[in-house]
Amino acid sequence: MSAESDVLVVGAGPGGTALATLLARAGLSVTIAERATFPRDKACSEYLSPEALRVLDRLGALDDLLPLGAPLHGTTVTGPRGARLDGAFAAAGHAPFRPTGLSIARRILDARLAAGAVAAGATLLERHTVEDLLYDRGAVAGAVVRNAGGARRSIHARVTVGADGLRSVVARRLGTQRRSHPRRVGFVAHLADVPDLSGSAEMHVGTEGYAGLNDIGAGLANVALVVPAARARAAAGRAESFFFDALECFPGVRGRLRPADLVRRVLVSGPFAARASRVTADGALLLGDAADFFDPFTGEGICAALRGAELAAAILPAALEVPGPVRARRLAAYRAARRRAFAGKWAVERMIGYGMWFPRLFDRAVARLERRGLAHTLIGVTGDFVPAHAVLNPWFLARMVL
Ligand SMILES: Cc1cc2nc3c(=O)[nH]c(=O)nc-3n(C[C@H](O)[C@H](O)[C@H](O)COP(=O)(O)OP(=O)(O)OC[C@H]3O[C@@H](n4cnc5c(N)ncnc54)[C@H](O)[C@@H]3O)c2cc1C
Repeated sequence: MSAESDVLVVGAGPGGTALATLLARAGLSVTIAERATFPRDKACSEYLSPEALRVLDRLGALDDLLPLGAPLHGTTVTGPRGARLDGAFAAAGHAPFRPTGLSIARRILDARLAAGAVAAGATLLERHTVEDLLYDRGAVAGAVVRNAGGARRSIHARVTVGADGLRSVVARRLGTQRRSHPRRVGFVAHLADVPDLSGSAEMHVGTEGYAGLNDIGAGLANVALVVPAARARAAAGRAESFFFDALECFPGVRGRLRPADLVRRVLVSGPFAARASRVTADGALLLGDAADFFDPFTGEGICAALRGAELAAAILPAALEVPGPVRARRLAAYRAARRRAFAGKWAVERMIGYGMWFPRLFDRAVARLERRGLAHTLIGVTGDFVPAHAVLNPWFLARMVL
């Protein structure tokens, strides 16, 4: 079977388009199949860490994006009993690529990155939904796509990349996707004229979920609510009123949000978490949320998708040099590189995500981190430029809870 592309990327989110850009620049032929049309929205709190900005700069997208969002200086966290920490990237003790991150609407970010992939030479097929995988000699060899008119066709490729998000069809067809805890659901909206926003993302943790407020520029705030899936059932058919009612339960949010200021409908995403048991297979690999999505609290999914794209782009050209099916062993370096790049961060992310189940302990940790001047370090780790071992060591952990 002859392949019409070296690589088929399924999904034109940040992971898929970053990979397509890097591979097209390396001289590979790349097709992206995306079920939506740009610009499109995505349920996301829309903040990018300083490390994510480094990758955007490498893609050549950063200078155009900076004026379209708002600078992000760090994160404030308010615990369930009112303890508060204020972490600044610039004070984290390690020099980030830039001292600020960026908050920017996904409608803008994703469309710009998709345009960048096309400018680099990738072919973008919008309104093309991947339904199934094709196989040749036991290896994935492309996918069956359905276009907006309902017509199906096969796209043959030597490597197929699942960058198709939390509900990845590629991961499910490969049989690798595993649902896991915590099972939470996110609700996200844009509101105008939210008072008292600072240049940092605000996270408010309650006993039944958390809320995030974030200035995304142009007078708009991104407002997110994440609750356990069992509680989210009460939102069926009334997402908007559920959203505003639930947000009023957070003392630091109460009275600041008015339904009349809603400028975009409430988007719902979840339940998460999901994780692929294997991120490579013969002829295929997984990237971004399709590979791993735990919980959005630490706001790192976009950075992980961009960074994962860099790791995949570093090994795919060599893997494709050998003729014939690209066996999983030729992609093993990607698996290993992901572990090296992400294992520490996954541990920190899970420590925070599970820590929220213990409100008294969470509050205590927040209060101690602030009092002992350690908040900046933790926020630097969540900002992806301070190594995770700065937090994952007995000294830091003891200072956090004792
Ligand atoms: C409530 C919430 C808040 C979040 N906040 C943040 C935050 O502040 N900062 C942060 O960094 N991350 C955040 N995240 C996580 C972030 O949104 C994701 O990690 C990130 O979008 C992953 O990028 P991706 O490229 O892997 O996938 P996605 O961005 O999900 O892109 C996947 C693409 O694949 C397409 N697709 C899906 N199925 C198919 C198919 N069958 N065929 C063709 N195309 C398909 C989709 O249309 C989409 O365009 C948040 C997530 C949630 C749910």
